[in-house]
Amino acid sequence: MERTLSIVKPDGVKKNILGEVIRRFQKSGIRIAAIKMIHLSKAEAEGFYAVHKERPFFSSLTDFMSSGPCVVMVLEGEDVIRKNRELMGATNPEEAAVGTIRKDFAASIEQNAVHGSDAPETAAFEISYFFNALEIH
Ligand code: ATP
Ligand code: MG
Repeated sequence: MERTLSIVKPDGVKKNILGEVIRRFQKSGIRIAAIKMIHLSKAEAEGFYAVHKERPFFSSLTDFMSSGPCVVMVLEGEDVIRKNRELMGATNPEEAAVGTIRKDFAASIEQNAVHGSDAPETAAFEISYFFNALEIH
């Protein structure tokens, strides 16, 4: 049993793919343990993506992530970190496998529709960034 953080990013919310993303999770046997919509400030987006602060795309990425509301979710299930990353596809939609969320819905390497934690340690940090214990069911 594992948990991971998923985000439907501002581009995904604008494109109305939230229902489709949730459908794919539930069809794969992934349980949603928490969910909310949130509009990140620039500073909150910078805190979330702090590991990327030296990268050339950091400013543009955090502008994008604070450009509109996101939907953040805690996903739960066996091997869910890997399963979610598999459903998402590669960071760059041009390299993402057929049938993945990013292949189907992402516009670019930056505006790539969804986020998923990449390891147990990052999942723990990212879940606690958005949710307290009473909000996870
Ligand atoms: P995420 O962490 O959002 O799930 P990821 O793990 O596939 O995505 P990371 O390398 O962690 O990819 O990059 C974080 C995010 O930064 C990407 O999802 C994307 O929005 C943006 N990003 C990554 N590389 C680039 C790039 N070369 N140019 C612009 N934006 C980028
Ligand atoms: Mg990442």
